[in-house]
Amino acid sequence: TAAITIIGGGLAGCEAAWQAAQRGVRVTLHEMKPEAYSPAHTLPGLAELVCSNSLRGESLENAVGLLKEELRRTGSLFMAAADATRVPAGGALAVDRELFSAFVTARIEEHPLIDLVRGEVADLPPEGIVVVASGPLTSDLLAGRLRELTGPNLYFYDAIAPIVTAESLDMAKVFRASRYGKGEGDDYLNSPFDEGEYERFVDEILAAEKVPAREFEKVVHFEGCMPVEEMAERGRETLRFGPMKPVGLVDPRSGQEPHAVVQLRAENREGTLFNLVGFQTKLTWPEQRRIFRMIPGLENAEFVRLGSMHRNTFINAPALLAPTFQFRSRPRIFFAGQITGVEGYVESAGSGFLAGINAARLARGEEPLVPPPATALGALVAHITTAPAKHFQPMNVNYGLFPPLEGKVKKKERRGKLAERALADLVRWIEIM
Ligand code: FAD
Repeated sequence: TAAITIIGGGLAGCEAAWQAAQRGVRVTLHEMKPEAYSPAHTLPGLAELVCSNSLRGESLENAVGLLKEELRRTGSLFMAAADATRVPAGGALAVDRELFSAFVTARIEEHPLIDLVRGEVADLPPEGIVVVASGPLTSDLLAGRLRELTGPNLYFYDAIAPIVTAESLDMAKVFRASRYGKGEGDDYLNSPFDEGEYERFVDEILAAEKVPAREFEKVVHFEGCMPVEEMAERGRETLRFGPMKPVGLVDPRSGQEPHAVVQLRAENREGTLFNLVGFQTKLTWPEQRRIFRMIPGLENAEFVRLGSMHRNTFINAPALLAPTFQFRSRPRIFFAGQITGVEGYVESAGSGFLAGINAARLARGEEPLVPPPATALGALVAHITTAPAKHFQPMNVNYGLFPPLEGKVKKKERRGKLAERALADLVRWIEIM
């Protein structure tokens, strides 16, 4: 059996190494720490949680709770470490960061099939099976080489606009239209503002509480994606000449161009999720919920994700990756973790899990697998590998990504049923895995 090289001993790389080694495949795992540290890492051990110690909600009412349960049932190292090092945190699963890292490091070091090599990897190995799991702060040297592989489809910052569910929008207030009627059909939903509504909205954005940028994140605005609050600070009309530009959009109810609009663009093929175009922001989460519900038609909006902007190395997965996490044009190369465009600790570990299994399968001459689409892992993988590539931004797991249930199900029972269906599909998948 061929051996596997994994680059990056973070959440994804360690999970991938563990899964491959547990399937009898020899792994060389490269981690640049403690020789070199990214601006966010400080612990010498593997699988460092760089910020919060929370792995988010536990309940299956929450898609990230379901993803954790799926990983737990499929023997993930990440979940074994989390369960062994948890600290009390109400409805969330939080861990002791140092114990968590020490637990994973010990398991990796003790595994007879894993060789841990410390030091920065400057390039991809010219042959053999490789998993790139170097994370959101991939070293510059390696990022430069990855760029040769990906072309312009490698990014260094994300600019995430809030995403709402289609069913939570007030369709009597928004109207469907593309600017000047261009595009395929009417691609956008538009929320019209009158002058008073626009002025109040700008006031609230100016006064809102913002998340301060970290030192190494400051250059983000030069890359052409400015947060909405910064646009508002440049002048009261800036938004109206930027993302809230009304020109070419006629509200069929008034027959006129509104004073300003917020455009909503479908985030997935099914049209169940919409993002607020150009609304990348560093407003705090409570402020986003409060202020963005002032947008006409969004009064009862359900946010499946809120806006954010970070330093984040990631590839355009829908353009480059197969749902097995193989690089389409070079299937010996896998990607895993935040660099694939998944967002969050649990999601990164989940993608490492899939890449690890599939790298091992390829090494053993078996067909790589795609997780069932109705599981949390499968829904996330399907999204990041098939979302529209043109506007791709990282995504965390949420129930808005799941294929809809068959038949009519009451809203408050829906999540429970989605979780039930996911775990049933998972049990069948484990049998073939
Ligand atoms: P990492 O865990 O970062 O692992 C990548 C590893 O690769 C690192 O150990 C790094 O040292 C190593 N490496 C990089 N380049 C090389 C190279 N050339 N050679 C060898 N090794 C290399 N998510 C949350 O859910 N909650 C949070 O609170 C949270 N906070 C975050 C805060 C910051 C500042 C950042 C940047 C991200 C945060 N994330 C958070 C997002 C994300 O979930 C984590 O970054 C997660 O650790 C990603 O897992 P990963 O395995 O892809 O990358």
